[in-house]
Amino acid sequence: MDKKQPVKSAEVSKAAREALERRGVTLMDIAEIVYEMQYTYNEGLTMEHCLDSVDQVLCKREMQYALLVGIELDELAEKKMLSQPLQQIIETDEGLFGIDETIALGAVLTYGSIGVTTYGHLDKHKVGIINQLDTKTANGVHTFLDDLVGAIAAAASSRLAHRIRDMEEKGMKLSDEKTIC
Ligand code: MG
Repeated sequence: MDKKQPVKSAEVSKAAREALERRGVTLMDIAEIVYEMQYTYNEGLTMEHCLDSVDQVLCKREMQYALLVGIELDELAEKKMLSQPLQQIIETDEGLFGIDETIALGAVLTYGSIGVTTYGHLDKHKVGIINQLDTKTANGVHTFLDDLVGAIAAAASSRLAHRIRDMEEKGMKLSDEKTIC
């Protein structure tokens, strides 16, 4: 049997970003959460910095794969295409399921402890669009999406915090740079 070619990175990246868009989440929605999490620690932080960090996090394969898996399951549950009992568990966002959180957390782990603690905070306090997704069950299934958005925001927050420290050590200020990739 011929060995299959791996899926091209650009294709995975495009599919993950399209999936988010299709589910009504913009990068700006996520950047707003990042700003909320980070502005008290960083004077001069702008929405542009936050948006840029969200964009960079979405370039990571771990995050792209998590998005593709989670969003696919939400969409299949909406179409009632899963087998029972998984259909009911995902459709009703069963409290003890926990796999939605596990997949999202897995994608945050590469961003270190700030990512993990921020993810926990967002999971508990449902900041910004996460709250809308969490309470919007009548308009669709978002069992995985709320956690995935939390994961992107947490990863982008952690990434920013570390980048800003690196800049400070080089004697640079946040306001010196438009973007800090
Ligand atoms: Mg969930």
